Amino acid sequence: MRCIALVVAAGRGHRFGGEIPKQYLKLGGVAVLRHCLERFINHNRVGTACVVIHPDDRALYDEAVAGLDLPAPVHGGARRQDSVRLGLESLAERAPDHVLIHDAARPFIDDATIARTLDALAASPGAIAAVPVADTIKRAGPGDAIAGTVDRTGLWRAQTPQGFRYADILAAHRAAAGGAEMTDDAAVAEQAGLAVALVRGSEDNFKVTTMDDLARAERMLAASAGETRVGTGFDVHRLGKPQDHVILCGVRVPHDSGLIGHSDADVGLHALTDAILGALGIGDIGSFFPPSDDRWKGADSALFLRHAADQVRARGGRIVHLDVTLICERPKVGPHRQAMSKRIGDILGLDPSRVSVKATTTEELGFTGRREGIAAQAVATIRLPGG
Ligand code: MG
Repeated sequence: MRCIALVVAAGRGHRFGGEIPKQYLKLGGVAVLRHCLERFINHNRVGTACVVIHPDDRALYDEAVAGLDLPAPVHGGARRQDSVRLGLESLAERAPDHVLIHDAARPFIDDATIARTLDALAASPGAIAAVPVADTIKRAGPGDAIAGTVDRTGLWRAQTPQGFRYADILAAHRAAAGGAEMTDDAAVAEQAGLAVALVRGSEDNFKVTTMDDLARAERMLAASAGETRVGTGFDVHRLGKPQDHVILCGVRVPHDSGLIGHSDADVGLHALTDAILGALGIGDIGSFFPPSDDRWKGADSALFLRHAADQVRARGGRIVHLDVTLICERPKVGPHRQAMSKRIGDILGLDPSRVSVKATTTEELGFTGRREGIAAQAVATIRLPGG
């Protein structure tokens, strides 16, 4: 693998005074951490992303990354540089050529900054995103009186990602272990005598440190929200398979016969999959997963739903809300509704509050009324970037 992103999320600085570390706070309904992970794993020059977490944050991490295909997280250490070193050690077997080390609290890392950082690594053992200091810099004395004006010529503010040749930065961190505390990886590299280039970062690539930062991030997200799309889906499967359950919205529900279908015949997930594909306008479930293909025989329909969500993500979009209605006399859906919302949320990495599962009968009319089959209809609301 040529490049792996190492995302450092082990910090617990409760600078917001709250219980939840800032990298797990929601931004646009999605954890700050997930925003940066999606940028890296969707970048065509980054193989995967590995996250360093605090051991106490495992549940927060699992919720934040649900549905993403990532290697297991690594537990960090007492200081940031210890966490980075442990993260780097964990990549030994994968031995990437390059590693991009990134702060989990910088959710607006963009594709161009990632590309510039990687480009610079062709000529330099290290390269970091940074922005030149534009404001005049003052040094404060006692009582916050100005004690002097600092020459800002040549001053840059360091951001992340900070990219390095993997073997170099691992050796530099090992050499620095137990030594003085350093606030970024470039400092560790500098101490090891490695040349580190500055590449243009972005003012948008700021670190969410305060509540004001989080509010600014929310405003930026809203401004870049682009357009809202809505799609609908509908599906029916016939009852009559000799088995003692049906699979509805990913949940096994006891019933006197099963649903007949090529896959697991989950009408709920099929309707949702079509709703998402419909919002994107890219065909239907049958065009991606033809029933003539033996690969999908008996398949878990979570696969189809996840694929549809991947299509949203690949376009830089996100699912805002899903609403599915199951139409049947039996089984009773009510007792399973919560489990269904949660299961769909788990499959897609969505908060269950964004997944509505409802049910109705047809008053014993029609094929659903005669209990010959189960129908489902769904609506998906997604947001796609503007332009
Ligand atoms: Mg179907």
